Amino acid sequence: MHSASQARSVKDRVVVITGAGSGIGAATAALFAAEGARVIAVDLDRERVKRIVAEITAGGGTAEAVSLDVSDRQAMQACMDDVGKRFGVLDVLINNAGISSPASLEAPEFPQIWDRALDVLLTAQVFAARAALPWLRHSSAARIINVASSEALGATAAMAAYTSAKTAVVGLTRSLAVELGAEQITVNCVCPGPINTEMTAGIPDEQKQRYARRRIALRRYAEPAEVAHAILSLALPASSFITGAILPVDGGLTARNA
Ligand code: NAD
Repeated sequence: MHSASQARSVKDRVVVITGAGSGIGAATAALFAAEGARVIAVDLDRERVKRIVAEITAGGGTAEAVSLDVSDRQAMQACMDDVGKRFGVLDVLINNAGISSPASLEAPEFPQIWDRALDVLLTAQVFAARAALPWLRHSSAARIINVASSEALGATAAMAAYTSAKTAVVGLTRSLAVELGAEQITVNCVCPGPINTEMTAGIPDEQKQRYARRRIALRRYAEPAEVAHAILSLALPASSFITGAILPVDGGLTARNA
């Protein structure tokens, strides 16, 4: 019998969440803090992440803001080491930061969009995991949760950079799950479908509703908190035998044929 705690709580767990200044990351930071976790909210946008942390602490939660670019390996390493040294442990890493990266293959900006998408959406996730690993080893229930997308399970036109990076996150998740499994460190991935966040705010409501009616089993976009709850489930100490899993959180988008 595996001896780790089967707690259905993240109380007092030390949790790093990237892209916590907005959308899914902000909702995840708020949810984990509400569940009693000690949250390190990381984002490129200093003001926004400070505002999210202020809201959490005003509500009695424990959170701190760190401003960095997840594609900056040195900054990420310094952040993990600072957290690790101060808390003595890192329990959960949530690789969530992301950018939408639309560009058709022949668009003049395609090369830059490709490079940035892979840097932020894929390479940053693996180097965050690498920097976190020594501190995750101090945890009794270490978890890495990567945020991919339904674009990792299918494709939309003129999204080659985003889709390629997100599809690779699935491979990264499986690979690290296998590599770290012997140490009881679990690595899983969520694949959100269409969620109401800043990333999708530019899509007109009418277009969203038409898409939802036509493609999504639940006939709607989700709210960020609905993804946060899936992430929380994977982060629980009790989710100790789930690793290498690719969890669609997409309202049935990828299940639906007609
Ligand atoms: P969002 O734009 O609301 O939030 C993304 C956050 O990431 C922002 O606060 C932004 O400042 C931060 N960020 C961006 N680049 C960064 C960098 N280099 N370093 C640090 N922080 C950075 O978007 P969201 O919808 O909440 O997206 C969160 C994750 O969910 C992303 O990985 C995204 O690809 C994925 N996702 C979103 C949807 C959707 O429909 N919204 C669907 C599938 C997957």
